[in-house]
Amino acid sequence: DTALYAAKRAGRGRYEYYSDVMDTKAREAELRRAVAGNELVVYFQPAVALATGDVRAVEALVRWNHPVRGLLGPGEFIDLAEETGAVVPLGAWVLRAACREAAGWRAGLPGAGPLRLAVNLSPKQVAQADLVTTVEDILAETGFPPDRLTLEITESVILQADPLTIGRLQALRDLGIQLAVDDFGTGYSALSYLRRLPVTVLKIDRSFVTGIADDPEARSVCEAVVHLGEAFKMSVVAEGIETADQATALVDMGCAIGQGFFFHRPLPPQEAGALIRRQFAAADQLHRPA
Ligand code: C2E
Ligand code: MG
Ligand code: MG
Ligand code: MG
Repeated sequence: DTALYAAKRAGRGRYEYYSDVMDTKAREAELRRAVAGNELVVYFQPAVALATGDVRAVEALVRWNHPVRGLLGPGEFIDLAEETGAVVPLGAWVLRAACREAAGWRAGLPGAGPLRLAVNLSPKQVAQADLVTTVEDILAETGFPPDRLTLEITESVILQADPLTIGRLQALRDLGIQLAVDDFGTGYSALSYLRRLPVTVLKIDRSFVTGIADDPEARSVCEAVVHLGEAFKMSVVAEGIETADQATALVDMGCAIGQGFFFHRPLPPQEAGALIRRQFAAADQLHRPA
């Protein structure tokens, strides 16, 4: 981990000292430099129509290409970013980079019009007074269409949503942006809260999808979320699908869209772009004048 890395760098005998000193402040500074210095990379994990395997959306997932430690997943730095507030510039960077990349794919492929882009928003970002203008500015700058963007929020945001937060989320909806609840089922969001928020998508957490075949409770939760989506007129996306059996079970219960290693892992931008072009090149034939 970071402390160990710092200790190694510092040399033997100074482990105690550096594991304390490479504290939150220093790690925060390193992370902020990474954001400013272009050490971050956005990977894209496709979400597919479960019935056909066609790519319907891509979710932006941040990675840190650390000069010493190599490619780090968000599990290694996103909590620190959230605690220190570094997630605010980090999140804006991810949104901008993802919108720019996806706008580029769209520009060369008229058939890719319906393709959606999903980007994760942290609770700290949602709490920023200037969230809406930040998002608007990035959309204007990159030319990415608001009605093809989905912003994913966590259940904790739903539970803590005060009137100002609800106002910001509504303003995002008014721009045409979809709002998804990520990892749905793991938190404590009361249905009454869910209902008064402008949420349009529920993402079933991977833990329930994992158990869908042999854990009756996990299976019931998946079914309940699918029914909830129907009742509230929200789309439902299953995450973390790793087997054909899980995909089949989800299709059987009426879940149309899914994401998971069984279909695609998160892909570096080039590979994601190649996949999108392969799929949508055929659709483009229809758009060309005869
Ligand atoms: P998430 O938004 O729920 O994203 C799904 C995570 O599950 C990703 O991990 C993805 O790689 C992983 N995953 C997808 N399919 C499978 C599967 O079939 N099996 C397994 N075992 N895992 C699967 P990743 O990329 O490590 O991201 C972890 C979390 O970090 C994300 O969970 C999200 O909450 C957060 N995150 C990622 N990027 C950002 C970002 O730009 N901003 C913020 N605020 N959070 C981010
Ligand atoms: Mg997500
Ligand atoms: Mg999720
Ligand atoms: Mg998850």
